[in-house]
Amino acid sequence: MSPLLVLDRVALTYPGPPPVVALHPTDLRVEAGDYLAIVGPSGSGKSTLLNILGLLDRPTAGRYHFAGVDVATLSEAARTALRGQRIGFVFQSFHLIPYRSAAENVELGQLYTRVPRAARVRDAEVGLGAVGLSHRGHALPTTLSGGESQRVAIARALVGAPALLLCDEPTGNLDTATAAGILDLLARLHATGVTIVIITHDPAVARRAGRVVAIRDGRLTPAATMEYGHA
Ligand code: ADP
Ligand code: MG
Repeated sequence: MSPLLVLDRVALTYPGPPPVVALHPTDLRVEAGDYLAIVGPSGSGKSTLLNILGLLDRPTAGRYHFAGVDVATLSEAARTALRGQRIGFVFQSFHLIPYRSAAENVELGQLYTRVPRAARVRDAEVGLGAVGLSHRGHALPTTLSGGESQRVAIARALVGAPALLLCDEPTGNLDTATAAGILDLLARLHATGVTIVIITHDPAVARRAGRVVAIRDGRLTPAATMEYGHA
């Protein structure tokens, strides 16, 4: 089977002025079913890389194949469609709509798909169940804890069964115990076959992944995986 993601000398320079080389030419492969952490300090290029992987930004050099497709050849509309169907995002700050219930927020994960409303409602119930929040479907985000909010965001990201879950500092706003619960949830989801790429500045978060690469000054350094106890 071909890998889910292949970066071949992918780089990104923000035009400036002055130009900023946020990502030097980078090779990376992620197989379906992987759980990869990309760890690095603030400003190292983590979000730049995640935005490229998530088809939010186009690299300025190199090739990116997503599920066998050279995504540079796609129109903006085709990239948006591919992103909506195949990629789920989880961010540090949850990004829930405050005046919609938890269930409605999860339904919004499939808003721009052809899935009929009744099926979206059903899928949202299943999604909330998968993150242990069946009993909070009617709750508004303002009444949810940080951990519950992130669970809703994860359910929203996973509704429609995307090929890839991309997480940008998903535990950055959570206390240690709550963060551990979210990492346990990600581990359970991974065990059911979800492919996860998580970016973090926190080595403790990275350690939970199956594979770790480090990023520093826009360069991936696979050798640094040694630091995290992965051969
Ligand atoms: P991280 O997520 O690891 O904190 P980023 O990927 O956000 O890092 O940023 C990497 C580098 O690119 C930093 O030096 C940052 O200042 C720079 N950068 C990020 N976005 C832009 C932009 N839109 N224009 C110019 N420079 C940027
Ligand atoms: Mg960032």
